[in-house]
This record gives sequence, structure tokens and C-alpha cells, in this order.
Amino acid sequence: MRTFAFFLLMLTSFTWAGPDWLRWGAHADEGFTRFVFELPLGTSYEVVSENAVVRVRLGLGVAKQETLTTEDPAVEHVEIVPATAGAEVRLYLRPGSTAKKPFVLEGPAAHFRLVIDVVHPQNGLAAQPPKPKPRPPVVVIDPGHGGPDPGTVGYIREKEVTLDIALRVRYLLEANGIKVVLTRDGDYDLAPPQIRDYNQRKIIDLDKRAEMTNGDRNLFVSIHVNSAERPARGIEVYYLGKTLDPRTLALAVAENGGGELGLELTQKAESTAEAALADLIAQGNLQFSARLAKAILKQLLSRTHTINRGVHSAPFYVLRYARIPAVLVEVGFANHPTEGRLLARVDYRQQLAEGIVAGILEMLRNGTYAAPGQ
Ligand SMILES: [Zn+2]
Repeated sequence: MRTFAFFLLMLTSFTWAGPDWLRWGAHADEGFTRFVFELPLGTSYEVVSENAVVRVRLGLGVAKQETLTTEDPAVEHVEIVPATAGAEVRLYLRPGSTAKKPFVLEGPAAHFRLVIDVVHPQNGLAAQPPKPKPRPPVVVIDPGHGGPDPGTVGYIREKEVTLDIALRVRYLLEANGIKVVLTRDGDYDLAPPQIRDYNQRKIIDLDKRAEMTNGDRNLFVSIHVNSAERPARGIEVYYLGKTLDPRTLALAVAENGGGELGLELTQKAESTAEAALADLIAQGNLQFSARLAKAILKQLLSRTHTINRGVHSAPFYVLRYARIPAVLVEVGFANHPTEGRLLARVDYRQQLAEGIVAGILEMLRNGTYAAPGQ
């Protein structure tokens, strides 16, 4: 009989540390631990399960009290306590474990087996609910201008190039499992149709785009095309801030609607930038915006090999509400004879889209910034 018991022990890898009539072993694949009480025929037993303790009262004398600790996934420890009419064995369950109804099996030579299976936490009824899947990152892409506002016009029309690049960026980001929100996906602006005044439309349009930088989004990238009085080419990337450079200021005014309106919205964006410098959280976000700007610029330059015009801060109205890393990319000059013609080509626009996406992915992968809701 001893030989047989030992053989069984080896086969099922039971953890045996107590009296020779009690053993248990985890069946990890099936998700439970089996407790086996091998008792002389005629031994009385009663099993009571309450408050995560299973009490097995046995008509069986024991010499001493014992506490057996265990690494078992279902049970923390086992106590064997002498009682007046025999012994009580207590199984202290781990949180989420549940004991099934006991049953009896035949045993060897004048013995029977009382069996109690305890289901492991992940399989039990009281198991913890499955963890929700992590939310995919959400990136807002803003193709500049649209509808009545063509943006700058040179060898190309800005609103057409920005939309085409934005659609390519969306396709590439979605292929990487990233959710994309476009501020527009066609040739329109965001003002309601009944508004006739161009300036009024422009303010509403820019406000709505700027508002899309909050909520549960992770990054915001606005795409624009540059222009210059004197021939210039190359790529520059901006985040919100003030500027002392007259050309940068003129660019911000133009992108903010131009003319009187552009000046007014540039001043509003400037005061937001000023407030941000006094606000630690906003300041931190500006640092992440600068990092995103650098990542996008680096990736764009490695693909286009055009002129590096650097990362700068400027009072762009569309970036003023951002509580997430937000940048504005000037992908090239519409009126430069070479670059303007390049911007008309789909293969060049694809390179630009790939560069922007690579920069975004770099930022998301290395992203140690506190994205909202994470
Ligand atoms: Zn623009």
C-alpha cells in the first residue's frame, strides 16, 4: 500500500508536507488544485465551506496541531487542528478561489478517498473580471485650410496638398493600429453653412480645429504649406510659443487667417503661450510638443533630404488649446520653383506622409509623457 501511495505521489506531482493521509497537487492546465484525504473505511467526515475557509471535520485522531504553508495557486495555507471528536482540517483559500462540492473515490486496501477540488482564481466564479484591452492611441491630424480658404497658392494650392498628405498619414497610422481623427476629410471648413462672413467663418473654423486637441486624444499634428517673398525652401516644425523673429510672426499671422483677423488671432495665441509659460503642466506639455516637433522634423529630413529650417515656437492659433503634444508642420514652400513642383507630386507627398508618421510613431513608442486617461 505504501508503495502504491508513493507511486501515485510521483505521478501527479503532489505537494506533500503533512500527515500521510492528506496530500494535494495543482493541476495548472485544468485550473484547480485537488485535495485528497485518504481515510480508513468508516471514518466520518463533514465539509463546511464559509468565508474563504473550507473546514473538513474528520473522525480521525491527530497528535498535534500543524500549519502547512503552500505555494499553491488556490490555497494559502492548511491547518490541522485536533478537535474533541477527531480533527479539523482548514483550507484557507486565496482571494478568488472557490471550493467545489466534495466527492468520494475508492481507495486502496480498506481506505477511501475524500476529494475536494479548489478552482484557481482566474477560473473560479469569483475570479477577477478580465482586464480591459489597452485603448489604442488617438492622433488628430489637421489638414490646414479648406473650403473657401485655399491657403497659400503657388505651384500648388495649399488646401489640396495638406488634405492629400493627411489622408496618407491616416492610412499609414491606421495600419499601425492607431486611431486617427481628421479635422476635415474633404474640401470644406468647419463653420456652419449659414455664416457668410469670411472672417467669422475663419474664427469658428480655427476654434473648432483647436478644440479637437482636447479630450482623450494623444497627439495633434497640423499640416501646412509655407510661402515666402524671397525664394526659400525646406521644412520647419512649430509648437506653441512666442517668437521674436519677424518672418515667423508673419507666418503665424498668415496661418491664423491673415490681415486684421490674423493679427487678432495671433495676439490671442500669444497670450495663451504666455500663460502656458507660467503653468507647470502646460510647460511640460510644451516640452513634449517640442520633442514631437523634433522627431517629425528628423524623420521628414531623412526622407526628403531637403533643407532643415528647424524647430521653433510661434503663436499658432490652432495649437492654443492643446493639452496634448501638438505641432504644426510646414512641409515646404508652395512658391519655390523646385519644391513647389515637388509638392505637386504624389510620390513626394507620400514621402512627407511617411516622415510625419515615423515621427509620430517614434513619439508614441518612446512616449513617457502622461497621456490623458492613462
Ligand atoms: Zn497654412
